[in-house]
Amino acid sequence: MTVTSMTERLTTKKWVTRCALSRICGVCGEPLGRPIAFRGTTDEVGRNAFHLPPMHLACAASLGARAESELVTTAGFEFVRPARDDRDRRPRFEPNSLL
Ligand SMILES: [Zn+2]
Repeated sequence: MTVTSMTERLTTKKWVTRCALSRICGVCGEPLGRPIAFRGTTDEVGRNAFHLPPMHLACAASLGARAESELVTTAGFEFVRPARDDRDRRPRFEPNSLL
């Protein structure tokens, strides 16, 4: 799989939701262990709200330094669906136990 198609799948709402509910890695689709890694922009890190699905640390590292370049690790996360009046219309992840 090319990096481009992988990134496209990573941002598909259906896939993101499946990763969240099944607790599988957004890159390889295997069950998540700990730590769980998220990749996000500086803004996402600052808000503690990520849009890419959870990943294995190695899988997150394999994505390399792209625009969404910061990597955080956590032992757990909340999956947040946008509320009706939410400015952010995408489902997001809030790490709740940063490592
Ligand atoms: Zn993985």
